[in-house]
Amino acid sequence: MKLPYAESYKIKMVEPIKLSTLEERKKWIKEAHYNVFQLKAEQVYIDLITDSGTGAMSDRQWSAMMLGDESYAGATSFFKMKDMISNITGFKYVIPTHQGRAAENVLFSCLIKEGDCIPGNSHFDTTKGHIESRKAFAIDLTIDEAKNTQLEVPFKGNVDVNKLEKYLSENADKVPFVIVTITNNTAGGQPVSMENMREVHKIAKKYNKPLLFDSARFAENAYFIKVREKGYENKTIKEICREMFSFADGMTMSAKKDAIVNMGGFIATNMEEWYEAAKLKTIVFEGYVTYGGMSGRDMNALAVGLDENTEFENLETRIKQVEYLAQRLDEFGIPYQRPAGGHAIFVDAPKVLTHVPKEEFPAQTLTVELYLEAGIRGCEIGYLLADRDPVTRENRFNGLDLLRLAIPRRVYTNNHMDVVAVALKNVYDRRETITRGVNITWEAELMRHFTVKLEPAK
Ligand SMILES: *Cc1c(COP(=O)(O)O)cnc(C)c1O
Repeated sequence: MKLPYAESYKIKMVEPIKLSTLEERKKWIKEAHYNVFQLKAEQVYIDLITDSGTGAMSDRQWSAMMLGDESYAGATSFFKMKDMISNITGFKYVIPTHQGRAAENVLFSCLIKEGDCIPGNSHFDTTKGHIESRKAFAIDLTIDEAKNTQLEVPFKGNVDVNKLEKYLSENADKVPFVIVTITNNTAGGQPVSMENMREVHKIAKKYNKPLLFDSARFAENAYFIKVREKGYENKTIKEICREMFSFADGMTMSAKKDAIVNMGGFIATNMEEWYEAAKLKTIVFEGYVTYGGMSGRDMNALAVGLDENTEFENLETRIKQVEYLAQRLDEFGIPYQRPAGGHAIFVDAPKVLTHVPKEEFPAQTLTVELYLEAGIRGCEIGYLLADRDPVTRENRFNGLDLLRLAIPRRVYTNNHMDVVAVALKNVYDRRETITRGVNITWEAELMRHFTVKLEPAK
């Protein structure tokens, strides 16, 4: 008999979690203004709000923490991190930042001015925030297939190269750079193919535009290239990463994702101009250029985490767990963005809560229902997160409205995934009774989903 698949690690430290009562959860979610970001973590049983900074570090990472060099300038920890990043990506200049959005802040302060347009596949929320706060525009040129959650295509995160070519031919003067997010988080953790990266690179070069990779989950993207794209099945993840980054002029990275650290990020590039400009901004916003908001021990852990998570076994364990949850949802007929993405399952909320009007935020409503059902905290990636149009101030209902169940790396077991699947099935079974959603009572101008206050619609 063929041996079943099992995790490529064992567990040596645990943290207790506890299921609350429905009464408690009703009270807590009301106090949180129906916004799960406002809950206390201890009010949550299984926390799938994000896979960012929530991973479990390995014994190698924890031991590297003890060897952190906390020197203000020139710490050995910086050079360990820099060498690892250079090895994996081929970029020679590296600037640490305290997390991914800080990398965006530093780099975009150098590159973006008012009125600029930044084309790419679906921009991540903080990326969009850092573009729009500079009175510039994020132009989403993701392939149309990504909008149909039921379509099974292997690289649903791709940039539509025809749209990009057309866009650049008409607007090149307004474009400081092209951005590709790997994996495409907003479209459902969907990967971008090597072929697409190659073509985007070619078009960007034709118009003399640098290409930036927003790389939070580049290792998961490399895994999908290995298992889905012809010609890559026998390459190592590290070889695939090297090739991917050969098409980019630089990267921003939230190390809280694929480097499996609790805090950290960086900019890496081969462009001396970007590096020189970013160094100045780093000193203002983040700290001296050999620590940029990170402590030495964290840079050590980041180096080891990147090394471990660009190995096939570690990625396989992770992605198989996401697939496992997807299979359970398939059994119950619950619609999600297909195929299952790298870091999360994205439930297609308007297909579940068909009676809740879009103005009452179906995905947010489903997020609240799942919390009430079993204390599971997902996250709305939909109409709330989309913010208002910067010009018209209207809600943006043209994208997807999803409940994201993000799975922290190396944290939960498949038994937890079973609880999540069954809780969602219970909500699904009573979907016909859910006819009203939520209304906004207060919202911030930008990135409103973190702090928005809501109430049940009456
Ligand atoms: C998380 C993320 C960011 C922002 O990084 P933080 O570490 O959360 O600041 C940017 N882009 C993508 C694709 C991300 O997933």
